[in-house]
Amino acid sequence: VRLSEVPAEPGEDTRRWLADAVWMGGSELNENVLIETVGGRISGIESGSVAPNTVRLHGVVLPGLVNSHSHAFHRLLRGRTHRQGGDFWLWREQMYRYAGSLTPESYEEVATAVYMEMALAGVTTVGEFHYLHHQSGGVPFTDANEMGHALIRAARAAGIRIALLDAGYFAAGFGDAPLDDIQTRFSDVTAERWLERVDALISRYRDDPDVSIGIAPHSVRAVPEAVMVAVAGWHDGKIPIHVHVSEQPAENLVCLEATTLTPTGVLDRVGLLGPATTLVHATHVTDRDIDIIARSGATVCYCATTERDLADGLGPSAELAAAGVPLAVGSDSHAVIDLFEETRGIELHARLAGGRRGVFAPEALLAAATTAGSSSLGFGGNGLEVGSPADFVVIDPETPRLRGVLGDDGIAGVLFAATAADVSDVFVAGRQVVDHGEHPGWERARVALDGPGP
Ligand SMILES: [Zn+2]
Repeated sequence: VRLSEVPAEPGEDTRRWLADAVWMGGSELNENVLIETVGGRISGIESGSVAPNTVRLHGVVLPGLVNSHSHAFHRLLRGRTHRQGGDFWLWREQMYRYAGSLTPESYEEVATAVYMEMALAGVTTVGEFHYLHHQSGGVPFTDANEMGHALIRAARAAGIRIALLDAGYFAAGFGDAPLDDIQTRFSDVTAERWLERVDALISRYRDDPDVSIGIAPHSVRAVPEAVMVAVAGWHDGKIPIHVHVSEQPAENLVCLEATTLTPTGVLDRVGLLGPATTLVHATHVTDRDIDIIARSGATVCYCATTERDLADGLGPSAELAAAGVPLAVGSDSHAVIDLFEETRGIELHARLAGGRRGVFAPEALLAAATTAGSSSLGFGGNGLEVGSPADFVVIDPETPRLRGVLGDDGIAGVLFAATAADVSDVFVAGRQVVDHGEHPGWERARVALDGPGP
């Protein structure tokens, strides 16, 4: 696109950057690219340009990375779960002890530090799957959305965009199994109260370009069918819907026993599958499930580093992609926060499962960490092009890890070798959030991650 075609009027807030190399969606990098922004949006982007008054961006520029599945407070478990061994369900017991101890203040402090860690890793948008709503015993705070507001303030402090995916959680298992003490903090008890809370969030943040509100039935085991039917009736076809699906074989087994359907089959029956839906994990889905997901237009969000950390298993990523299902990525439990590791994890897991390399095109993997993620969170799905938000990150090709990789492999060289530590600069809506690997708020915020735990 030529700068002369730019619709926005260049004015005082027009800014120009000249980048060494930019990924614009293909398998190759474009060199010497001029990026012009007006009012937080890209007003021009052109390869092989020179222009006066530009700021040089030394490195490889990518669209801002999108972390589509996060539970911010799980970061507190990092460094505290590896001695015990066990399985997903034992890990969950430990996670629940943290869930029991958090207040709006500590939740905000922890999330602020976690979102700053994300920003430093190149994440410009987070999808926060938020289920810790109420006081112990399920008593709502004075404002029933106090915990959600705390997360949105945390994202603002970190300088990144947030999709608050407000989760509903009503039962400990199929057949309305009663909630335990900790789980009462997650529950609104009735579909009406939950949807009322979500409606309040939607109207409060409607005009905020940095916030998107979505709805997240936690899983088929935690949300009775009648509640899911109510959500489907409430839904406008556009608001993001995120659901955990078939992360563990045990979930599939009890679902089949209780309903004769797989979790995906249940979601299909209640009318919750569509282009606005994202299924998180989809590790143990059947061929028929893949068919249903593909026909619905839903996205699948892979969380490779968490799935390997929790011994979930290897999902059918290649089969889903071959069926045309868009993939997104999330760091979920934050065992690590590194979207390069997350993204190549999809390909590397598929290699281990299938015995061959190059299952995915590198540009398809990068799309999962950028455009597809952004689309699944309700922020629109464009990359670096005119009209898109000026969200972009700079990767330093001179770090010990990346020196020499800008060779034959194009963007794949970066994708398969870069780490979060190679991100040097991060821009959100044209605002610089990370400068030469530093976030100005980190020194103060980081203490929230210390301490022995609950
Ligand atoms: Zn999750």
